[in-house]
Amino acid sequence: MTEQASSPAVTRVEIQVDTRAPGGTTNAYLVDGLLVDPAARTDALDAAVGIGDAADKNAADSDADDHDAASPHSIETIAVTHAHPDHVGAVSEYADLTDATVVAHANFCDRFADATEIEPDEIVCDGDQIGDSAVVAVETPGHAADHLAFAVGGGGDESGDRGEGNADGRTADSAADGTADGATDGHELICGDLAVADGSVVVGAPDGDLDAYLASLQRVRDAGYERIHPGHGPPIDDPAATCQRLIDHRLARERSVLDAIERGASDVDAVLDAAYEKDLSGVEDLARATVVAHLRKLLAEGRIGSAWTERLDCGCEH
Ligand SMILES: [Zn+2]
Repeated sequence: MTEQASSPAVTRVEIQVDTRAPGGTTNAYLVDGLLVDPAARTDALDAAVGIGDAADKNAADSDADDHDAASPHSIETIAVTHAHPDHVGAVSEYADLTDATVVAHANFCDRFADATEIEPDEIVCDGDQIGDSAVVAVETPGHAADHLAFAVGGGGDESGDRGEGNADGRTADSAADGTADGATDGHELICGDLAVADGSVVVGAPDGDLDAYLASLQRVRDAGYERIHPGHGPPIDDPAATCQRLIDHRLARERSVLDAIERGASDVDAVLDAAYEKDLSGVEDLARATVVAHLRKLLAEGRIGSAWTERLDCGCEH
């Protein structure tokens, strides 16, 4: 039913990490020589990239071959969807172990280096090919300002005339032409914390930007991906419907924030109480950051009074 032949396969390795995402795991992905979001070093990820015990076994099995030809995935590049701690924990370790080229968002190198404790070897912007792979960076800010997704394959372009055959100097050249449409043309998308199959993603102040988040969701919704692969939880086989569900969820929350203000809520706590009907124990800080993000968007759009400017000093430091 799908035309997988033209797209390299996406392999998911679930990693137990200290994350507040449901399930307590982050997904690392391997596709066409690219490793995305190595959140921690695990035996499963070692095996997937052909190092550690897995590599030793390979070496013992074929003594003439001390490289990784026998490994399931030979890693040439490492990238992250964003620099939150539950996505970056083993970037430097796998960079050392595999000698891969480390790639970061061009506008957020300092953030990347602070989170991973290594400097990127290469930088990418929207639409850039990742290394020599059939993967293209797609800027998808919102959950985090530095958020990137990775489009895999070339959306029905069976002749493969885009992005191939000009491996030399590809990064600078493809950055310069800035054809954003091409970036969202892939069959599948490794989408990080843009989307989840169930529930919703935190978009909280100060780093989260709801306006940007909604735009990113719309972009991915309209790009025609067959499947998207989130940073947490199972793959999403109905990308357009899931993106729309997440957009609707945000707009519904925005309406409850506005309702709360119309009914007299005059500070963040009052809005928080009124806009969430569920018990917030354990997640109140995230809910508060979310409410502040909503209020910032409404303030920027002139939909709530300027008195809110000083009330939005949320004190959240994440
Ligand atoms: Zn995150």
